[in-house]
Amino acid sequence: MSLYNNNIQIRRDYNEWPLVKDVPGTLINIILEDMVKKELIKKCLNKYNISVIEQFTNETNDDILSWTELHHNIQKIPYRRQPKWFTKLVEQIRSKERVANNLITPNPYAIREWKKVESKWAMDFEDQFGKVKKWNNLTNKVSLQRFKQNMESGKLTPCKGCEISLAKTKTKYCFMERDISKL
Ligand SMILES: [Zn+2]
Repeated sequence: MSLYNNNIQIRRDYNEWPLVKDVPGTLINIILEDMVKKELIKKCLNKYNISVIEQFTNETNDDILSWTELHHNIQKIPYRRQPKWFTKLVEQIRSKERVANNLITPNPYAIREWKKVESKWAMDFEDQFGKVKKWNNLTNKVSLQRFKQNMESGKLTPCKGCEISLAKTKTKYCFMERDISKL
C-alpha cells in the first residue's frame, strides 16, 4: 500500500503553496524559510508535488536521495538533469541538522512494498515465460509466476518447481523475480 497515494490531497492553486491534508512528514517550509528565491523553489516543488522533507530522504532518513533517485519517493520521474534549486535545497537540508534528526523514521515515502498487479504475460531475456503477479516500485523488480511451455502442444502450464524457482517460496508454484528492465 502506498501511503503517498492514499493520504495526500493537494489542491493546485496557482502561485500558492498547495493545500496539504494529512501529509505524513515534516513540512519543507522550515527549510525554505531563509533561502533566497524561495518563491521560485516553491513553484518547482509544487510541480513535483513535493511538500515534506521526507520526500527527499531514504528509508532511514540518514541520507538524501539524488535527483535521479528522487522518483522513488515522489512517484514521478524527474526527466531533466539536476536543477540548481535541487542542489541548493539539498545543501540547506544538510545544514539543518536539528530538523534532519527529527524526520519520521522509517520514512513513509521510501517504503514501498510489493504491490499486487493485474496479471500480464511477460518473457525474460532467457525466454522464460511468466505471469507478472507483483511489482516493487522501489526496486523496480517484478515477481513472476513461471509457466512452462510444452514443446509439442505449445501449451503453457504452471511450473511447480525447478532450479529457477525462488528458494524460499512457500507455495506449490514456481516464482521468479526479474528486474523490470529485463523483460
Ligand atoms: Zn519452475
